[in-house]
Amino acid sequence: MTGVDPARVAALHAEATRRFEAQRPRSRELFERGRRVMPGGVPMSWMVKWPGSWPTFVARASGAHFTCVDGIDHVDLCLGDTGAMTGHSPAATVAAVRAQLDRGITTMLPGEDAVVAAEDLAARFGLPQWQFTLTATDANRHLVRYARHVTGRPRVAVIDWCYHGSVDETFATLDADGRVVARRGNIGPPVPPEVTTAVVPFNDLDAMERALAPGDVACVLLEPAMTNIGIVLPDDGYLAALRDMCDRTGTLLYVDETHTLCAGPGGCTRAWGLRPDAVVVGKTIGGGVPAAAFGMTAELADRVQRSVELEDVDVGGVGGTLAGNALSMAAVRATLTEVLTPEAFATMTARAVRWTEGVQAGIDAAGLPWQVTRLGCRAEYTFRPTPPHDGAEAAAADDFALQQLLHLWALVDGILLTPFHNMALMSPDTTDDDVDRHSRSFATVTQRLLA
Ligand code: PMP
Repeated sequence: MTGVDPARVAALHAEATRRFEAQRPRSRELFERGRRVMPGGVPMSWMVKWPGSWPTFVARASGAHFTCVDGIDHVDLCLGDTGAMTGHSPAATVAAVRAQLDRGITTMLPGEDAVVAAEDLAARFGLPQWQFTLTATDANRHLVRYARHVTGRPRVAVIDWCYHGSVDETFATLDADGRVVARRGNIGPPVPPEVTTAVVPFNDLDAMERALAPGDVACVLLEPAMTNIGIVLPDDGYLAALRDMCDRTGTLLYVDETHTLCAGPGGCTRAWGLRPDAVVVGKTIGGGVPAAAFGMTAELADRVQRSVELEDVDVGGVGGTLAGNALSMAAVRATLTEVLTPEAFATMTARAVRWTEGVQAGIDAAGLPWQVTRLGCRAEYTFRPTPPHDGAEAAAADDFALQQLLHLWALVDGILLTPFHNMALMSPDTTDDDVDRHSRSFATVTQRLLA
């Protein structure tokens, strides 16, 4: 299906592994040492999933590049899986954070930065009321709780093959018979996900209609374009029809823009004129400093406020002691007002167009049945000839061994792709040269796949 011979993939993987191991002895030392005190030698379990015989340990990162402890310069097309979409350590964010470090890191009280950050987000997304958390996971989790609380409905609807962080209700997929099941790898689900969750294929309005018909779904939570199983773009009119359906059935519509902020300064919400009841943003809004936010319509914010007693506001399942801390808020204010500007998005998007063309040229030169999909400053190739229409199609096109090879090949050529899929993200600091370095490496490995 991918058009390549698995034996060829294995042979090239072995070649790249030899290069990797020769290049990175110092990373190996840290890995061996780290293994004695951390499972897998890494501070968080998913970091073992990088390609290579051991993780690459980073010495420093700046702009669109990082240098590993073996002194190898890398073009970073992963950018902390969006956490560093601003480029690493953007000057304005660093200056604001440095200044704040001397003025107090966390107090549980608000400051002016929070007001400015919320004003900026309100102007970008057209939603007037904002709250801040440390992670996008928390922002999604809080909104889901609010949805159940204000509607009195028990369930949520999500998209098949979605990802919204470690939110229990969202770890569900459809099996071959269309039944809701725990997603493969779901660790310790609290209850069977079909109890809490309706799962609907992306771009399928009939299935959504059926899911919302019983009237027990509090909210639909979705990315306006899927970005966590390849990029899957919405059909024309899909999101508008979904809005109408939510209005008709009294269901809240939540748009998770954590990744799709790549579409422009106000994400897809602004770019496509969406009218969600709430929006989630995270990761990059603090320039890499932990911070996320959710914005609500005045109506939803009012329903929430009226439904929560002052006496209970601290222990209701929404919060986090460090949420909205002064350091995060200083980072968010500076990042929004000085880094993630409309000009920055124009530059980033131009680089992504170049990356898309470069990779597609490599695919075409090798005659492979693959394609590239782009959304703003993010692009991704899939091992299928046409863009996927839903998550299941995208998942079916996946090939773990081939993906590991392409990631490892890039890595030994000094290029980091986003792990777990074939995605590249552009920062304001990414240059044409950085993009072309990847296109050359990709052209080489795809030619050799056929040799
Ligand atoms: N929403 C989306 C769309 C995401 O892709 C992710 C993480 N990849 C999250 C939420 C969760 O972000 P975090 O892990 O920072 O909580």
